[in-house]
Amino acid sequence: MKLITSINEMQQFSTDAKRRGKSIVFVPTMGHLHGGHASLLKKGRGLGDMLVMSIFVNPIQFGPKEDYASYPRDLKGDMALVEAHKVDVVFNPTAEEMYPEGFQTYIDIERLSKPLCGISRPWHFRGVATVVAKLFNIVKPDTALFGEKDLQQLQVIKRMVHDLNMEVNVIGAPIVREIDGLAMSSRNVYLNKEQRKAALCLYNAVVKGKDMFHNGIKDTRVILKEVRNIVESEPLAVIDYIQICNINTLEGLEKITEKALLALAVTIGKTRLIDNTVLGNEQREQYIF
Ligand code: AMP
Repeated sequence: MKLITSINEMQQFSTDAKRRGKSIVFVPTMGHLHGGHASLLKKGRGLGDMLVMSIFVNPIQFGPKEDYASYPRDLKGDMALVEAHKVDVVFNPTAEEMYPEGFQTYIDIERLSKPLCGISRPWHFRGVATVVAKLFNIVKPDTALFGEKDLQQLQVIKRMVHDLNMEVNVIGAPIVREIDGLAMSSRNVYLNKEQRKAALCLYNAVVKGKDMFHNGIKDTRVILKEVRNIVESEPLAVIDYIQICNINTLEGLEKITEKALLALAVTIGKTRLIDNTVLGNEQREQYIF
């Protein structure tokens, strides 16, 4: 495994690999790796010759009052998982390397960035799209993998790649959960014992929505009322949003006629957690035991 911190060196590595006819698979992350990231590496390993992972906590996707400074970082700990998955290169630049003095170019995905997480985090997807575009130009991947836990992010990236004619095949991977159902997240380490228990309301809400849909209920108001009740009955939970929307446009739906996304964001203490499920899809979530 090679650790690269310089953009020039990373670009050189990728150019050389391409010249030798090697394909590049890319998994962008913010580090503090867990089973969700591992699933992307596992899937990615089989999709090409070189497996590149980035570990970069991207300052421009955090708001001024958010947890950029305190976001969990553990490069040493991450290396064990990286080695286990035979990652060829870890790209780990500094914020100054990525955003030097004078940086002023951003990518704005107009409509998909607005609903769901975009309501309380209006800057977020501009930061995500911009860093992913930069990383694509630096790593030059043929294929890039993203988790469906951040389904709005996945849709934003797919849209950007399509709209800007980027030659990258973007692939989604199912949500990986803890044994009790909580979606794995680097931010779960913020939760104390009581909050960790309370955080289960997100998964319970998702399961309730899925059950109601499977029982033939297609009216989203009826589903949302029950789902909301589950979260509201948890005293430590504060709802940011709970929404059922069209999976492609992310626009709210009254009736579910085809595949729909049930997505929610909930704050437990100071920790904002997200979860989702696709209604009208097979049960694709994996479970880590
Ligand atoms: P992050 O380090 O949180 O920015 O995540 C890096 C990548 O891992 C993103 O594509 C996420 O969607 C994905 N990811 C994070 N958590 C999970 C999870 N529990 N299951 C599947 N993918 C995940």
